[in-house]
Amino acid sequence: MNPGFIGYLANLCQVAEVAPGVAKSIVQELADQRQNLKLIASENYCSLATQLAMGNLLTDKYAEGIPLHRFYAGCDNVDAIEAYACEQVKTLFGCEHAYVQPHSGADANLIAYWAILQTRVEMPALRELDVKDPSKLSQDDWNAIRSKLGNQRLLGMDYYSGGHLTHGYRHNVSAMMFDAYTYGVDKASGLLDYDALEQQAKEVKPLILLAGYSAYPRAIDFRRLRAIADAVDAVLMVDMAHFAGLVAGGVFEGDYNPMLHAHVVTSTTHKTLRGPRGGLVMCASEFAEAVDKGCPLVIGGPLPHVIAAKAVAFTEANSPEFKTYAQAVQRNAGVLAQACVDEGLDVATGGTDNHLMLINVTGFGITGRQAESALRECGITLNRNSLPYDPNGPWYTSGLRIGTPGVTTLGMGESEMREIAAVLKLVLSNMTPNTIESGPNAGKLSKAKYSIDPHAHDEARARVTALLDRFPVYPELDLPFLLEHFGAS
Ligand SMILES: *Cc1c(COP(=O)(O)O)cnc(C)c1O
Repeated sequence: MNPGFIGYLANLCQVAEVAPGVAKSIVQELADQRQNLKLIASENYCSLATQLAMGNLLTDKYAEGIPLHRFYAGCDNVDAIEAYACEQVKTLFGCEHAYVQPHSGADANLIAYWAILQTRVEMPALRELDVKDPSKLSQDDWNAIRSKLGNQRLLGMDYYSGGHLTHGYRHNVSAMMFDAYTYGVDKASGLLDYDALEQQAKEVKPLILLAGYSAYPRAIDFRRLRAIADAVDAVLMVDMAHFAGLVAGGVFEGDYNPMLHAHVVTSTTHKTLRGPRGGLVMCASEFAEAVDKGCPLVIGGPLPHVIAAKAVAFTEANSPEFKTYAQAVQRNAGVLAQACVDEGLDVATGGTDNHLMLINVTGFGITGRQAESALRECGITLNRNSLPYDPNGPWYTSGLRIGTPGVTTLGMGESEMREIAAVLKLVLSNMTPNTIESGPNAGKLSKAKYSIDPHAHDEARARVTALLDRFPVYPELDLPFLLEHFGAS
């Protein structure tokens, strides 16, 4: 029996003894993932070694502080694990300093923001900010805090151009801490306009020039961004949450490798990097001391079991196999984008340089939301995404975001990418929006409801199933056995 499967089995037996419903849902999740093709650009399948490293007594430990400098006794083994994880990150990315405690990408960004503020700005002591109950801060409170911090400016990529909520989106705390400005992509090309950005940076004079994205399909010239940041004395921060795996795997080199150009780099560990759900901050030594105070500044106790899983995943990412994987992710994305173009789909910017692409579906008379739902019905899981300057807004959207990290982990290659493009076309070209029946909009086309031709639906579903049968999710796990023992209702 495969050791990963033995580990799973032991784990589920133990869980089922206490909470059988939880064990059942875990097994059902495996069953669902076996039946649906994952094209979500921000998701992946981490190794069983990574998963199993999280399921143990390390979760019992408090380990506030950093290795060899803790506020709790008895942290020797957590010290060894965390120090090892940091060394693996330094080898992987070639950075001066690594901090592996953030629970998520959003935490990593908050830690980086405050570390930059504390390092570069004459800060009032935090206790002077009069924050009595941080969970009840009003907009006025935030304005007062921001003004005490000197109304520092953040210039990040606009959410609607592919930036992330934590990059200054108005409902995120980043837009309340900073006087937040955003840059977008060029309306005609969909690409970053570096000259326009340089102009804007000179006008805004931000403390932080922030790059990185969740939905931009092209490589970014970080050398150019560093020159822009230097010209206005800004800190260049790069959030590589989405493409860290491509950096680790050597796909983005030279001008396109943020590690060579940014002062501070943040990431998630669970997207292309293929580790457990979590965050990561890397920085030049100037910011190291402040970054290491992420706890207690932003986070409470670190999660030693997740840090152990990060250590496993970073070790995997340092292997030659991971380089091959990262290159295959990018190659598959390029082949899939070209196949979509060949099928007549409208691929934003005409293609991709990374692991993701955006498809405009409005040519089929439908919204992103309708396309997302119909594809899920046919066994394809992906997410709708607004396109730059999207007339359908962030809820209905005009686009789909498609990524290849997951299907590449399953072992799929170029011919499978062409098959996926054909199935996407089959579904999208056989959909019609429904007409709204009653209410003030009666007679108009719905942006949510749709019909799909039943023959197209069945054919798509069968083709997806055929693909997944050849490339099963977690093949080490004996699903029929697990369903028989834990899945019965
Ligand atoms: C996913 C993502 C994050 C947030 O990561 P979480 O772990 O979900 O908090 C931050 N920045 C970017 C660019 C992302 O794509």
